[in-house]
Amino acid sequence: MIPFDFIYYRPDSLNEAAEVCQSLYVKGKSAVYYSGGSEVITMCRAGNIRPDAVIDIKHIPECMPLSVDGQHLNIGSVCTLNQIKESNLFPLLRLACGRIADHTNQCRITLGGNLCGSIIYREASLPLLISDAQVTLFGPEGKRTVSFQSVFQGRIQLKQGEFIVQVHIPTWALSARYAHIKKTAHEKIDYPLVSLAAIWKDGNLRIAFSGICSYPFRSGEIESVLNDRTKPCKERAGQAVDLLPEPAYSDAKDSGEYRAFVLKNTLQALLEEWENGKI
Ligand SMILES: Cc1cc2nc3c(=O)[nH]c(=O)nc-3n(C[C@H](O)[C@H](O)[C@H](O)COP(=O)(O)OP(=O)(O)OC[C@H]3O[C@@H](n4cnc5c(N)ncnc54)[C@H](O)[C@@H]3O)c2cc1C
Repeated sequence: MIPFDFIYYRPDSLNEAAEVCQSLYVKGKSAVYYSGGSEVITMCRAGNIRPDAVIDIKHIPECMPLSVDGQHLNIGSVCTLNQIKESNLFPLLRLACGRIADHTNQCRITLGGNLCGSIIYREASLPLLISDAQVTLFGPEGKRTVSFQSVFQGRIQLKQGEFIVQVHIPTWALSARYAHIKKTAHEKIDYPLVSLAAIWKDGNLRIAFSGICSYPFRSGEIESVLNDRTKPCKERAGQAVDLLPEPAYSDAKDSGEYRAFVLKNTLQALLEEWENGKI
C-alpha cells in the first residue's frame, strides 16, 4: 500500500505531459514521471519519495515506437526491456536488457526507467554509450535531440520537467561485431559485479562499463590502452583497471578490490578472444 494520496495524470501527448509537470512545479508541488513504475511504487511504499503527483507517460504515442526507419533504430522510452529483447533489432542491447532482472520484471521495466532510475547500474545505457546513439528529450522548453553520450554522465542530465521520448541508434551499430559480459557474485540474475558492452567500429574496440564504479561510464583513455595491440592482453587489461575514473566500487557484498580483480580477468579474456578471432 502507498501510505499517502497523490494525483495520477495520464497525458496523451508530449505537450500535455510537460504542461502538467510545469503547472505542478509552479504551484510548488512535486511530480515524478511514471513508466514501468516498479521503482516509483517501491520508493513510494518505502517512504523514499512522496510526490504530490505521478505523470504516467506510457500512453504517449511518441514514447512507444520500436522500429528502424532507414538510418536509425528508434526505441520509445516506454518500451519494456522484454519488448526490446524480443525484437532483437539491436543484438547488443538485447543481451544487455536480457540480463537485467528476471523475465517477469523485464516485462515491466522500461528503457526510460532503467536509464533514469536511482539504482546505480543503469545497464541499458552501455550499448547506447558506444554506438553513437542520440536521445530525444521533451520538456517545458520543447523538444531537443542530442548525443546520448553528451547528456549521460553517469546518469542522464535532464532539465526540470524534461523526460526521455526516444533513443535513436544508427544502423551501422545494429550489425557491428559486439560482446556483452555480465559477472555477478552468485546468481545469474543479480546486480553486476562487472558488466561491460563492447562494439567494434572500423576495427577499433569501444567499451562501456557498469558495476565496477558507482556509475556507468565509457572512457577514451581505457579504450586507447585496450586498442594498443602491440602489448600483451594481460598488460593492457591491467593498465585499463589502473585507469578507472574512480576507485572500484565497494558495497556490503563485494569489495572494490574483488571487483577490480574480476574486471582485469574479464578484460584479459575479452582481448584474447578478439586476438584469436573468436569475436
Ligand atoms: C528485481 C529487479 C532487478 C533489477 N536488476 C537490475 C540490474 O541487474 N541492472 C540494472 O541496471 N537495473 C536493475 N534493476 C533496476 C531497474 O532497471 C530500475 O529500478 C528501473 O528504474 C525500473 O524501471 P521502471 O520503468 O519500472 O521505472 P519507473 O519506476 O517508472 O521510474 C524510475 C525512475 O525513472 C524516471 N523515469 C522513468 N521513465 C522516464 C522517462 N522516460 N524520462 C525521464 N524519467 C523517467 C521516473 O520518474 C523515476 O524517477 C532491477 C530492478 C528490479 C525491480
